[in-house]
Amino acid sequence: MEEVLLRRLENLQAHMSDAGLDLVAITTAPNLRYFGGFVPHLDERFNALLISQKGVMWVAPELNREQIEAHVQWPLIAWRDDEGPQDAIRQALQQLGVPRTLGIDGAGRADILLRLQEIAQPQSSRSADGIIALLRQVKSADELEKLALAAAQADRAMQVAIEACRPGVTEREVAWAIEAFFRQDGAELVDFTLVASGPNGAFPHHHYSERVLQEGDAIILDIGATLNGYKSDLTRMVYLGEPAKEFLNAYAAVDRANLEARSRVKPQVSAQEIDRAARATLKEHGLAEFFVHRTGHGIGLDIHEPPYLMEGNEAPLQVGMTFSIEPGIYLVGRYGIRIEDIVAVTDQGVRVLSQTPHDLVIKSS
Ligand code: ZN
Ligand code: ZN
Repeated sequence: MEEVLLRRLENLQAHMSDAGLDLVAITTAPNLRYFGGFVPHLDERFNALLISQKGVMWVAPELNREQIEAHVQWPLIAWRDDEGPQDAIRQALQQLGVPRTLGIDGAGRADILLRLQEIAQPQSSRSADGIIALLRQVKSADELEKLALAAAQADRAMQVAIEACRPGVTEREVAWAIEAFFRQDGAELVDFTLVASGPNGAFPHHHYSERVLQEGDAIILDIGATLNGYKSDLTRMVYLGEPAKEFLNAYAAVDRANLEARSRVKPQVSAQEIDRAARATLKEHGLAEFFVHRTGHGIGLDIHEPPYLMEGNEAPLQVGMTFSIEPGIYLVGRYGIRIEDIVAVTDQGVRVLSQTPHDLVIKSS
């Protein structure tokens, strides 16, 4: 593990010098896990892993010190509540160098950035997300296995979700069954349990509501949780009753779009090519105008991270990238359809981590 962290650090330092960043502050849970090897309890206190070409220093509250030191090899400077973090930060900067250019993870907290700016007085500050993504978007074999385990857990949870859908229960009750399963199955966090029935399916980011499921509902189940720090994300659909021909045709078109996009995945193909393949397939079926979002997003320690599969992203896919493929269509007032898998780029092409079959689950009474 320590070898891995050392390599990540060296890679980041190399990208920092290319990007002209003297110091990067790592402050969010996913980035602390990736570069620090441990996520302490993050509260309002100043807690950051500071990285320059000269080395690394974790500035942490005294009450986290022993726990961090038990897990982490990086040098640590702790500060006490009654003294505040200023002196600890100054001490760290004495060793790391006072930066002219400061980077921080984009989802980091403003108060941490402001504190660093106040003390270091850099000429400029900017997001370090671009260079962090260059590392994090390419997964190691160990990370791929963790993502596969998370995907397998989502497959199991999907069986529970499908089972829970029946006329008379609310979206919230289905969501709770999914949540309870994930927890029992060892998930650290249940990230989302989206249950969008009938007209609610036309809102791509509907969560769940008190709506009662009824005959004639198409139900989108989009679920994800965190296992060993890594995220899952899976969407399948249930239909209560007998679907109309038109719905079945639309479902088949979305399925085809998913499979077409998947079939294009291989190293060196641009991310936008995958999006174009899905969109072109839906266009053939006259459904392109209802596909209102990108085809997919990277996944790893974050649920949404680079690479994003969309028009304009010309970046070539690389072996070890992992992302969703999730074409969908949304007919306002009527229903939505989405089918989502997590895939990994391999030197052969593609490995699909999600195993649940794509078939629409039709439950007629
Ligand atoms: Zn997704
Ligand atoms: Zn999803």
